[in-house]
Amino acid sequence: MLKRLYPARHLTEAHLIRGHLESCGIAATVRGEALAGGIGELPLDACSVWVEDGEFEAAEAALHALHHGNPPADTGAWLCAHCGETGEPQFSACWRCGCERPQSPAQTG
Ligand SMILES: [Zn+2]
Repeated sequence: MLKRLYPARHLTEAHLIRGHLESCGIAATVRGEALAGGIGELPLDACSVWVEDGEFEAAEAALHALHHGNPPADTGAWLCAHCGETGEPQFSACWRCGCERPQSPAQTG
């Protein structure tokens, strides 16, 4: 069963996201305004990206990564706040600019 992941502003964005998801191994579908809605949602004048129910969470994470430039959390990698470089989990400073690894407030253990 498909779930709507992301309402894109235009077809290009929808396909960009679909391409990104597919590169992450997540099958995504782009649906246009032909979507027969009528389920209380706002009228769609653009297209949206849909993914399988079971892949929704992974797709959300991939989408988040795309928008915020963060690698998926489960790799343990981190992002340099200074230069935006991705740091390996075993390093506590950026290999590129030497900035310290940012603290993650969500990490509790
Ligand atoms: Zn850096």
